[in-house]
Amino acid sequence: EARKAGRGEQRLFDDDMNAAAKDALMIDGALRGALAAGEFYLVYQAITNAHTGKLTKVEALLRWNSSLLGPVTPDRFIPVAEDSGMIVELGTWVLEQACRQAGRWKQSVLDDVTISINVSAWQLADPAFVTLVSQALISNGLSPHQLELELTERVLIDDAIHVQTVLAQLRALGVGISLDDFGTGYSSLSYLTQFHLNTLKIDRAFVMDIEHSERSNSLVHAIIAMGHSLGLQLVAEGVETAGQASILEKMGCHYLQGYHISRPISPELLLQFADGRAGAAPQPYTDYAI
Ligand code: C2E
Ligand code: MG
Ligand code: MG
Ligand code: MG
Repeated sequence: EARKAGRGEQRLFDDDMNAAAKDALMIDGALRGALAAGEFYLVYQAITNAHTGKLTKVEALLRWNSSLLGPVTPDRFIPVAEDSGMIVELGTWVLEQACRQAGRWKQSVLDDVTISINVSAWQLADPAFVTLVSQALISNGLSPHQLELELTERVLIDDAIHVQTVLAQLRALGVGISLDDFGTGYSSLSYLTQFHLNTLKIDRAFVMDIEHSERSNSLVHAIIAMGHSLGLQLVAEGVETAGQASILEKMGCHYLQGYHISRPISPELLLQFADGRAGAAPQPYTDYAI
């Protein structure tokens, strides 16, 4: 009887595996030609100063509206693009597109905004990466402090020595390096001093429970204290309520990002959002279209 149930589970497991593999295969196929067909675009999410409410940074997030599959979320297509190596081409497009947008904002209230982009391990391994970054800055008239690259811990363990060198070159250029989703991965504290980081992004998983879980609250408190003592800037991700924002501000978190402040939105809406904020008291932005 037990053996039978075991076999049943095994079959379900195989079916799940097949479904996942089929999904990946389908996405992989649809990804080919998608960039050339203009199926990608970027949305931008505000990151504000926790104390003043000023819009200081903006994270660029990739969106794909596939002609074959309809809208596909990054959680589905980024891993596939990483497996095939297509993430390098895609990431280069994101870098150029985001810098072009920041260049366009030069004559607006967003003239000094820092743009954050997500960078995967394959991109850092590409010998052309540092040159691509400096070219994107120069050709769009951006100063290096206006660009920040978000890496996950995964990137840091892949080829630590090479990554260290590349990050040192990028920091020498003046580009910011931030550690994304902090607390969810390996979270080896040695990363914080070994690599040339200047920002830690506290993962949404901890921010989410900060009001109700003693454990999350102490964890976030500890991360913030540690960040301060290492001279790192702190960004809280996934801030969804006024209560969370207020706790984080009191704990000394420098920047806030999340639906409480704004959803990821189009560049046009972001400009409106920033305009509305100039001088005004910080208000959650709810008139989002995406
Ligand atoms: P991430 O870099 O940690 O980005 C934050 C994710 O959290 C985004 O999901 C954003 O829409 C979502 N988010 C922001 N505020 C809130 C909130 O208050 N509540 C909740 N529930 N979610 C919130 P998104 O856009 O689906 O992106 C998912 C992940 O895909 C990103 O996580 C990043 O790892 C990856 N990604 C997105 N764009 C790119 C890209 O251009 N290149 C690379 N390599 N990865 C990307
Ligand atoms: Mg990110
Ligand atoms: Mg993140
Ligand atoms: Mg994430």
